[in-house]
Amino acid sequence: MIELIQCKTDIGRKLESYKDFLPVDYRSCFKHGRILKGKKIMHVNATHKGGGVAELLATQISLERSMGIDSRWFVMDAPDTFFRVTKKIHNMTQGLPGRLTMKEALTYLDTNQELSLPFLQILNTVKPDLVVIHDPQPMPLVKYVPAGIKTILRLHIDFSEPNPRITKFLTPFLSNYSRIIISSKNYIPELPKNVQKRTTVIMPGIDPLSEKNRPMAREKARIITKQLGIDPDRPIVLQVSRFDPWKDPLGVIEAYSMAKLEIQNLQLVLAGIIQAKDDPGARLILEKVKKRAGTDPDIFLFWDQSQINSNSVDCFVSAILTASTVVIQKSIKEGFGLTITEAMWKGKPVIGGNASGVRLQIINNRNGMIVSNTLMAAKAIIKLVRNPKLRNKLGKAARLSVQKRFLQPKYLLENLKVYKQVL
Ligand code: UDP
Repeated sequence: MIELIQCKTDIGRKLESYKDFLPVDYRSCFKHGRILKGKKIMHVNATHKGGGVAELLATQISLERSMGIDSRWFVMDAPDTFFRVTKKIHNMTQGLPGRLTMKEALTYLDTNQELSLPFLQILNTVKPDLVVIHDPQPMPLVKYVPAGIKTILRLHIDFSEPNPRITKFLTPFLSNYSRIIISSKNYIPELPKNVQKRTTVIMPGIDPLSEKNRPMAREKARIITKQLGIDPDRPIVLQVSRFDPWKDPLGVIEAYSMAKLEIQNLQLVLAGIIQAKDDPGARLILEKVKKRAGTDPDIFLFWDQSQINSNSVDCFVSAILTASTVVIQKSIKEGFGLTITEAMWKGKPVIGGNASGVRLQIINNRNGMIVSNTLMAAKAIIKLVRNPKLRNKLGKAARLSVQKRFLQPKYLLENLKVYKQVL
């Protein structure tokens, strides 16, 4: 069954609660929000759990609603065959070589055509002023939006080196949107010429009030990590990420194994709780990761909620982040990478792969470290584990840069400005 399902939007966020984070943006949000009061905005994406998009939308929509904007959130319900194709499209937009087969192209287009029926029904009932479509999965829906309703495409992916075949395939849809929002100006030249002028860059932001991003007492984090079998008294390298080739979990294990030759008591935690339904390939990668991890008792893999006792995923992530010595995000491609922001906000030194989204956040040796290969990653791990002063310095700078640039009130403000312009 192909459906659009309305998600619960009210996670109880109020703009007033963000007063202490970025007071200037807080006031501007109210100014811009007043003009948008009563407007109906419909967000559509592929999943309401798992991954950065769902994470962003939960807070963004709750905040929009708290300002009197009638924002609603709909997610697609479609079979795995569809999500396997959209995963390939996603991978091709991030540069995977190859081409879509005719069958895959038809699965994508036909599913969206089927989806257009519930979509049009919702449009008729809700009568939105603006439809915001997130990422390629529901991108073709733009074709079914009646004239008079404005549309925004929010692309969260790394579009720095897309496979030209996929850009060509998606161009008829991209061209139909009133506005496109991306995370980095580096992606603009890769978009079709006719949409470049209608493109705005907005960098994402994390929610400082969510359970994951609120500070956790070290002692509580120690207890939780201990219960998970990890020794909080020994160094911990952590990557929090979906099991996905672009996040390079195999490269992380390799870097850890090299570093372990020097630091024998090193532990590695890979946390990728599988929640997103638009990521059917995750289990396949997980099997490869398990194989590579072998029987090393110091490698801890988390992929299922049943492994984290009764903790919520957010509480689990917060605990292992707090307890970790060094965080790594060895991405090969990264649209932005909220996991990096979350770790930096916890004041952790982050080692990031040399990908677009990582470079938006980390300045090498100033607020983290950027590495281009496994050997560099291993050396960075060794350097940081051995040097608490450096960890402290980078971690402090990291937290400050998130405070200045990557918190939700700022993200919300930038979006409100675009809504105003488009409407
Ligand atoms: N997350 C995760 N793995 C987990 C639990 C949570 O990746 O085991 C969260 C993570 O904390 C972050 C989001 O999922 O908020 C991932 O967002 P990001 O932008 O880093 O990557 P994406 O998955 O969207 O490519």
